[in-house]
Amino acid sequence: MSNPPADVATPPPRAGSEPLLVGAGEMSRLVREKDWSQTPLGSIASWPPSLRTTVNMCLASNFPIALAWGPQHIQIYNDGYWPICGDKHPHALGQDFSQCWASAFPVIGEAFRSALAGTTAFLEDQRMFLDRLGYLEETFFTFSFSPIRDETGAVVGLFHPVTETTSKMLGQRRTRAQRDLSAHALEAQSLDDALQLVAQTLAESALDLPFVLFYRLDAEARTARLVAHTGLAPGGVGCPPHVDLTQDHAVWPLAQVAATNTALRLDDLRQRCADLVCGPYPEPMASAFVQPLTPPGHERPACIMVAGVSTRLPMNEAYASFHELLAAAVTAVLAGALASEAEQKRAAALAEIDRAKTEFFSNISHEFRTPLTLMLGPLEEELAEPASALAPERRERIATAHRNSLRLLKLVNALLDFSRVEAHRAQASYQPTDLATFTAELASNFRSAVEKGGLMLTVDCPALPEPVHVDREMWEKVVLNLLSNAFKHTFEGGIRLTLRWGGDHVALAVADTGVGIAAADLPRVFERFHRVRGTRSRTHEGTGIGLALVQALVEAHGGTVGAASEEGRGSTFTATIKTGHAHLPAEHLLPAEHLAAPSAHAAPSNHVAAEVEQAAQWSAAAPAAPAAPGHADSHLPRLRPRIVFADDNRDMRDYVLRLLGTDYDVTAVADGASAVAAALAARPDLVLTDIMMPVLDGFGVLRDLRADHRTRGIPVILLSARAGEESALSGLAAGADDYLVKPFSANELRARVRTHLELARQRGDLATEFAQLVQERTAALTRTTEELESRNALLGILEDQQQAEAALRASEQEYRALFEASPNPLALNDDAFRIVALNAAFVRTFGYTKADIPTLAEWWHKAYPDADYREWVATAWQERLQKAQQEGTAFEPLELTVRCQDDTRRTVLARAATLTGAVDGRHLVTLSDITVRKQAEGKLNEQLDELRRWHEAMLGREERTQELKREVNELCRQIDQPARYPSQDLPGAESPAKLPE
Ligand code: ADP
Repeated sequence: MSNPPADVATPPPRAGSEPLLVGAGEMSRLVREKDWSQTPLGSIASWPPSLRTTVNMCLASNFPIALAWGPQHIQIYNDGYWPICGDKHPHALGQDFSQCWASAFPVIGEAFRSALAGTTAFLEDQRMFLDRLGYLEETFFTFSFSPIRDETGAVVGLFHPVTETTSKMLGQRRTRAQRDLSAHALEAQSLDDALQLVAQTLAESALDLPFVLFYRLDAEARTARLVAHTGLAPGGVGCPPHVDLTQDHAVWPLAQVAATNTALRLDDLRQRCADLVCGPYPEPMASAFVQPLTPPGHERPACIMVAGVSTRLPMNEAYASFHELLAAAVTAVLAGALASEAEQKRAAALAEIDRAKTEFFSNISHEFRTPLTLMLGPLEEELAEPASALAPERRERIATAHRNSLRLLKLVNALLDFSRVEAHRAQASYQPTDLATFTAELASNFRSAVEKGGLMLTVDCPALPEPVHVDREMWEKVVLNLLSNAFKHTFEGGIRLTLRWGGDHVALAVADTGVGIAAADLPRVFERFHRVRGTRSRTHEGTGIGLALVQALVEAHGGTVGAASEEGRGSTFTATIKTGHAHLPAEHLLPAEHLAAPSAHAAPSNHVAAEVEQAAQWSAAAPAAPAAPGHADSHLPRLRPRIVFADDNRDMRDYVLRLLGTDYDVTAVADGASAVAAALAARPDLVLTDIMMPVLDGFGVLRDLRADHRTRGIPVILLSARAGEESALSGLAAGADDYLVKPFSANELRARVRTHLELARQRGDLATEFAQLVQERTAALTRTTEELESRNALLGILEDQQQAEAALRASEQEYRALFEASPNPLALNDDAFRIVALNAAFVRTFGYTKADIPTLAEWWHKAYPDADYREWVATAWQERLQKAQQEGTAFEPLELTVRCQDDTRRTVLARAATLTGAVDGRHLVTLSDITVRKQAEGKLNEQLDELRRWHEAMLGREERTQELKREVNELCRQIDQPARYPSQDLPGAESPAKLPE
């Protein structure tokens, strides 16, 4: 099948025929070329105009349209339609429409017929099966059949525009399947459940998934177990319940998929499963996907999904990606289920630990009770001795031991009760009881302790209309716990206990005006071992199981507990239990003859006595240190070390006072703040403090002491009931000097206190020594500083010198530069007349090169080769030099004739100047080259000599002329002739004009 060409030029009409049909498409060509004369429609030329018009309209449209014309429903269709025909094209052209689409007629037949009858029919997204690709294919179409009438109005054909919506409809269906899958299966609690739910959901998608099998792999991926399935019956063809992955004859390649963790598509189901038929269609299955389901974090698949492919859908990209997405969705469901499986396992493990813990508590409590009983018995016997038999001090010691053994017993009992109730093993005995009287009596035991503690106790228990079934011991614990908690946390105001009848229930409420509980902590107070941190209380004694026990006990009565509280204003705890006994196990109800009415005069039980006794201790103020040996007396000079000891337990304070009082002055206080105050008031030598205390705990004491310089160095020993290296480390990390775990032996306490006091003393001595040392060192340092200062001064001088030298070096350089650059020959001689330096002009003037600068001796002989002249120069030089030095005048210039290197002579004017400040009497010789001047002078002298000679000659000639004139005149006179030359013109022997010298 090929697509119609996009644009084909309209072919020319056949010769001799009219252009009955036009159009450029493939179908236009096919329609035109088809020999219609072989069909019931006859040749195109014979077609009625209505047919031609309709066909032209159809062919010209882009929308898929088919026509069915005439009684034989001859089919003509356009370019848009032929892809719908699949392999039927082009035979479908001219075929009977109802034959061509016979497979769809069960669905479209009625619409077809209704249109033929004259009524247009429209169907939207109609599902139908078409056999256009060689098999029956599930398809969807939106289409209409409209009648085409001729001029007479008779229906001559059908107009059938159509759109294929298969992809859209399949897409929607598959999306829905995935959505349902996630929605239904995400809540699954286990992997198997999840797979069951997934399979159930997918059963509704049989059109796309004729069968789905889920195999779960064991941890080693050696076997696979069918966990869930749809479409196939387990044990039947293609559905083995177990697969041995080590064998390779299995129907599904599960082993391969498990090993490679890669999906496979199988197209050979007809061979593999011998005509496996399932799902909605009768055709044997051809293809399936085998996909690994590997949740995130897993290396191997946890499961493998085998899903069949519909026999009536083409295996295209959309279908393959649906299978892929499906596997991803199921994997997500599995991941959730695996997480919840893990969570359940964790919860089960925790429950097991919890059970073991309860069991342990129960056992250990039992173990404690025996020795405690054996301790309490003898102590009680001892105390029962007539007063005279025991010294008061010993009696007090035994009383302390007794009180605290009782306290321990109480704690052990609480733990035991708790673990029993938790383990549902409490042997409760529910007795009909006058609960108002019983409760009021229990509360009244507390009155004295509460009032001693400065609080008011209001008991409001009006008579109830009928007895209430309670286990008395349990109820006793409920009431006492709530009262003792209220007392522990209330410092002002009071406690109010009320009991109210509510018909089917009775409600106990214990309200206090105490410190209250922060909103964040309130929901947790009934949790086992939960304690509110940092809350103010009369004592820090407690285990955090009191309220949990109350809750468990009340629940054992089919009741509930509640708490309301406002921080700083108080709390109200309620216990509501049901009336009647229908809710209680019949075997635990005591028969009527055992009905015991509580007696107002009955002595309180051991338990009540212990509880009240303990509360009484909280109400007692912190005791003053005993006046017995060890009490600090501020008037006496302090000889004994002083210790501040803080503990909120009165017995503990008394005990430690007794232990340490003999050797030390001990100040015992009941809380941390008092300990800090005491330490600041008078500096103790050591502070011993409990950690768990009201107001300020031991760590707070440590922090405050270390923060103040007056108390910073005091050794602090922490006392704690918390054993374990970690607690000790945290104490030491906080800056404590030592950490002592309760119970401690008397000797251990004494030894540690002694050690730390000794250490402190040694530290003190060391500090004094150190201070001395510091003083000495300071003095030494001062001296050193002074020395350093003077050294610094010297250094300053040195520095000046260095600077001067530098300046000197700079000026020397300048001087050298000047020396070198001078146009006059210069030489520097020492006092022994050795040449020390010559400048460039010297060398140049006298014809030396730098390489053969002469020594002075050489120069002397060279320059003045004549020995006499040399002698003369030396003498003249010395004389002038001495004269200049002695008279302090300038060196008289000395004209010298010097012979140069090339034997020429130069005349120089030599001057010498002794250099002031020079180390070795150096003097600078300056030679001014006057050769040229001298030569000029020589020439001038020669010319003058010439002139003189000429002058002299002239003078001779003048004399001779005068002589001649005189002779003439004589002659004239002799001949009496007047004189020829006037006599005045003939001066005697006057010389001519004087010539310059
Ligand atoms: P315990 O008293 O041994 O610490 P409980 O279970 O009796 O343990 O109480 C748990 C916590 O609830 C206590 O640590 C305390 O902080 C708080 N609490 C209980 N009762 C009161 C009360 N009446 N007022 C303030 N806080 C209370």
